[in-house]
Amino acid sequence: MDRREFLKTTALATIAIAGSQINPPAVISSHASEKPAVKSYRELGKTGLKMSDISMGTGKLSAASMILRAVDSGINYFDTAPDYGLAEELMGHAMGRLDRSRIVIATKFCNPLVYPSHLPAGSNKKDYIIAVEGSLSRMKTDYIDICFVHAIGEMSKDIEAEKRRILDENMLLAFNELKKAGKVRFLGISSHGPNNMEELLMTAVRSGYYDIIMPSFNFMKFPKLPDVIKEAHSNKIAVVAMKTLAGAKDINIDSKGEEFAHAAFKWVLKHNEVSGLVVTIKTVADLEMYLKASGMKFSNKDQQMLDQYAMRYGREYCRTGCNDCERFCPHGVEIANIMRYRMYFNDYGMEKTAMEAYASLDKNAESCASCRKFTCTTGCPYGLPVHSMLAAAHKTISFKA
Ligand code: SF4
Ligand code: SF4
Repeated sequence: MDRREFLKTTALATIAIAGSQINPPAVISSHASEKPAVKSYRELGKTGLKMSDISMGTGKLSAASMILRAVDSGINYFDTAPDYGLAEELMGHAMGRLDRSRIVIATKFCNPLVYPSHLPAGSNKKDYIIAVEGSLSRMKTDYIDICFVHAIGEMSKDIEAEKRRILDENMLLAFNELKKAGKVRFLGISSHGPNNMEELLMTAVRSGYYDIIMPSFNFMKFPKLPDVIKEAHSNKIAVVAMKTLAGAKDINIDSKGEEFAHAAFKWVLKHNEVSGLVVTIKTVADLEMYLKASGMKFSNKDQQMLDQYAMRYGREYCRTGCNDCERFCPHGVEIANIMRYRMYFNDYGMEKTAMEAYASLDKNAESCASCRKFTCTTGCPYGLPVHSMLAAAHKTISFKA
């Protein structure tokens, strides 16, 4: 399918469902005015949808009631995936008590197995359709607003292999068919590296197939990402930011975690190319703390807070997505993936996900403790002590160590 044909057929499907454009939800609770709530909604590119500037990631969702509370606080955009534990099922439990037309649901072309279970390039068209049908069934909904090709750059270091995933004919045909059937509305692509994030996202932007991109985007990285975001924006492709807390070591900043999180969010949202951000919300305390930053302006004080963080943690924070170091390892250790799973374990409280994902790696950090090469450390342009971080990570997140 060429791009022109794809655009023509998906545009017809969009017209067919144009009557159901989403407005920000009315605040439902009588108590909502006393609690932090969403104060700003932004256009999602050319989709006709709007999203809450601070929106909910469901990677640690443990109860359907959190979805209802989030909606009650004005959040209207929910990011989920089949391989986020029970998240889709819990969305389904909440669905009966929601006005579906007032929320935006984003999920992924993945299987409901242990993370990462993204569909690889070369999957059959039927595999993509079955994946979406599974999400619809688990979430008890008739349609998905956005389906993402997830975590581009995670499945292979080979950039051409990942480009095949971006441009997979079977995925595009499946999306087209699902869209015509009214089961999916828009196509998205996400990346948190570890390989070639910026180049891969630029390929997606320039392909003309995607309505939304979701990169890792925060004050600590990435040199070439601003160009990608600008080009997306100029093509009316929405940008939704994730990993906005840069490793979430906020709790370590002299009990100023809340100020830090707000500064980090405001930094992301000061970019007018960004429609909103997705942050993992697990508890009511998370929800209320994060939402205080909604609609707020970035200030000099925020910049000082972020500078302080960067000075303190800049040499611990792996810019997952850069992956400059891996070519220096003679053993092919999957350094950037391990760094990310280490972050999930140490900083995000996602121990089980981290351990399972680590166990699925082909080249883990088992050899690092006895390695005397240190070429990975000297190869990191950000000065991270890669060797010792990997050796420690293996001890912490390996089932066997
Ligand atoms: S360890 Fe350094 S070079 Fe390697 S991916 Fe992280 S930031 Fe990049
Ligand atoms: S410590 Fe040695 S084995 Fe481990 S990543 Fe670095 S170079 Fe590779």
